[in-house]
Amino acid sequence: MWTVHKFGGTSLADADRYRAACQIILSEQSGKRVAVVVSAMSGVTNALIESVNLAAAHDESYLNKLQALENRHLETITALKLRNSSMLSETVHSDFSAIKEVLRGVWITRLASERIIEFVSGHGELWSAQLLHGYLESHDHRSTWLDARKTLVVEPNANTVTVDWQTSKQKLQAQSIETDFLVITGYIASTHDGVATTLKRNGSDLSASIFGALLGADTVTIWTDVDGVFSADPRRVPEAVVVPELSYQEAAELAYFGAKVIHPSTMSPAIAHNITVAIKNTFKPDAPGTKISATSPMDMPIKGFAAVEDMVLINVEGTGMIGIPGVAHKVFGALRAVDVSVVMISQASSEHSICFAVPRVHAALAKKTVEETFVVEMQRGEIQTVDLTDGCCIVAMVGNGMIERLGMAGKFFSALGKAGINVRAIAQGSSERNISAVIEQAEATRALRAVHSAFYLSNQTLSIGVIGAGLIGGTLLSQLQTRIEELKRNRGIDLRVRGIMNSRQMVLADRHLALDRWRDELSESSKSADLESFVNHVNADHLPHAVLIDATASAELTEHYESWLSKGINIITPNKKSNAGPFAAYRSLRETARRHQRYFLYETNVGAGLPIIQTLRGLVETGDEVIKIEGVLSGTLSYIFNSLDGHRTFSEVVREAHSLGLTEPDPREDLSGMDVARKLIILAREMGLEVEMDSVHVESLAAEDDQTMAALLNSAREAGQVVRYVGTIDSDGNLSAQMRRYPVDHPFASLSGSDNIVSFQTARYNTQPMIVRGPGAGPEVTAAGVFADLLRLASFLGAPH
Ligand code: ADP
Ligand code: ASP
Ligand code: MG
Repeated sequence: MWTVHKFGGTSLADADRYRAACQIILSEQSGKRVAVVVSAMSGVTNALIESVNLAAAHDESYLNKLQALENRHLETITALKLRNSSMLSETVHSDFSAIKEVLRGVWITRLASERIIEFVSGHGELWSAQLLHGYLESHDHRSTWLDARKTLVVEPNANTVTVDWQTSKQKLQAQSIETDFLVITGYIASTHDGVATTLKRNGSDLSASIFGALLGADTVTIWTDVDGVFSADPRRVPEAVVVPELSYQEAAELAYFGAKVIHPSTMSPAIAHNITVAIKNTFKPDAPGTKISATSPMDMPIKGFAAVEDMVLINVEGTGMIGIPGVAHKVFGALRAVDVSVVMISQASSEHSICFAVPRVHAALAKKTVEETFVVEMQRGEIQTVDLTDGCCIVAMVGNGMIERLGMAGKFFSALGKAGINVRAIAQGSSERNISAVIEQAEATRALRAVHSAFYLSNQTLSIGVIGAGLIGGTLLSQLQTRIEELKRNRGIDLRVRGIMNSRQMVLADRHLALDRWRDELSESSKSADLESFVNHVNADHLPHAVLIDATASAELTEHYESWLSKGINIITPNKKSNAGPFAAYRSLRETARRHQRYFLYETNVGAGLPIIQTLRGLVETGDEVIKIEGVLSGTLSYIFNSLDGHRTFSEVVREAHSLGLTEPDPREDLSGMDVARKLIILAREMGLEVEMDSVHVESLAAEDDQTMAALLNSAREAGQVVRYVGTIDSDGNLSAQMRRYPVDHPFASLSGSDNIVSFQTARYNTQPMIVRGPGAGPEVTAAGVFADLLRLASFLGAPH
């Protein structure tokens, strides 16, 4: 029994990769005989074709190109320490001499025929097969190598080849393949006349399945440089994941629509001989990879997305087409006759137009052919126009389960719509295994990301940007780090911090930043802080939601909130400056949020992590009537008054509060009472009062000296009272922030540390007010409050809409 392994160019890029490939072959042997189909070393086929083109353009640098290629092969032979290295080097050298001779002719005549290109471009595989065979032999394994041109007979046609199975089989049987390892050149073959030809670019995959069929193998493993077939090209869609299983048809459709990881024709020999095809990564041989076989799991209706670029769209339009049978037949028959492959067809049901996509290289020929075909109809005015739109790309969605599930097409097109991508034509394959859309090529990556995210990402995936990496921002990032994995696993909430910015620098990540290293990355970052590019980065099209966390105390930053919301970005902040600003701006911000259906969350504006705003909102929204709100609203001032026990001076205690991180960055903001005043405004506005900052009666402590404070506290103590700095809102809408005295048995007297306390006296909570109490300042609780807002946002967004 045979098994086939195919190694792509990147898996044979240098001596190290050859060694790794050999190790894989040996470990996969498992009692079977092994055929190894090889591609050329990476880049070699391209370089060979380029050298032919250079020669044809009369550019002598083709010689340098060839010399570099020859050197690369000779160096690899040396590095592999092959037993027959001098012989092999001699073969390689004489091959290059032969190519140079051929290309000299091309250089002189400036003409490169198809045959010459085919002949030259297939050499990479000849060399890489001999290198691998030489390496196996040098390590005492029984190995033989096979030049596929001597076995595989094909008839080339426009885009692929037709295999002559019978002749190929006879030729293979005539070879002596009594060996453990049979190394076969991929990509190359010959015609019935014995002329060297190829299976077209990327054709080694097809070689592998053809030889799998010829040898009667049960599996063909394609070894490449990625973990398997991804749900989209991983270079374009960072979110793509490996698809564990695909049916032959799904794999073929994905490949046809541009998933370069496998050649689309690979599947036909596999289907005919029921060969399982596996795609695996040479860099990670133990990863499971993708299995392609007759069936695929139906619980995953959509398997993947791909894009074919460099397309043009041709639109044939005319009233005369209505009801005339055979117009489509005529168009496509004519195109087939000139070997133009039509990648996608879309016909409006009105039959007013036929629209199809062809590769750009065939654009002129296709247009000319259609015009010639309909010359009479055009003269008669039955067909008015044959339009050509350049710069197109086809984005396709593939999956077997599409037919049974409702809404797949809707989701696909609405994702494109949401990303603002204009769809020029639509087609659904008759197999209903794919839906494809023609879009502008420049939008291909954005389109792939948008459709991929609609089907593959949790709706609770948040692209997060943190502005301000000080105490609160820093603590939030540490808290996130410890919880992110678990939230993703258990609740499907996918929090991705993709940007962090302070006043000087910023760091951005495509997927997410490593939260254990962000401090170093930020301080070493060469990107200076640039708010606009930061915001645009966080607001990525390919992720369902974006949120900016303003962890600063900057008033200037709050001026951008409205524009962020209108761009579709949610905002979370402990920064009070926005909510305490002019009422007109307050109202306008909320209108903007509502219009764009985005969230602005700021629970930590009052009482840090304590549920104060939520509680008040709950009371108001359920129809309770607020009679009075009274509270110690400043953690800083709370700490200061709780710590003034008669032994330390006022200024000493203020300094201590600052050093503990309990104050605003500028402690005068706390002492001035402005911070309490802002909180009062925010609470009053939650109650529906249209109040401005200048309506708050504020007593400032900023100018208070130690003696006056000591005297004040003493007199209170003598009267059996304590002094607290409190904010009050009464039922008439009067707001005040000032020192007040309370008896020692009052709840406000028993506070400790930086506790906040708020008492809500309402119609329902009248004789006994509702009281919320607890630490109301400090980085841990404030950051945790912001974190809780983030989770609240995730659940709002996760709700079906
Ligand atoms: P090889 O040299 O092994 O034949 P290729 O370069 O031909 O490798 O194909 C592998 C590449 O295909 C990957 O590196 C990847 O960038 C690209 N690719 C495009 N679409 C996909 C997809 N859907 N899944 C996996 N890889 C893809
Ligand atoms: N070496 C060929 C190419 O680059 C065939 C292959 O790699 O599959 O197209
Ligand atoms: Mg390939």
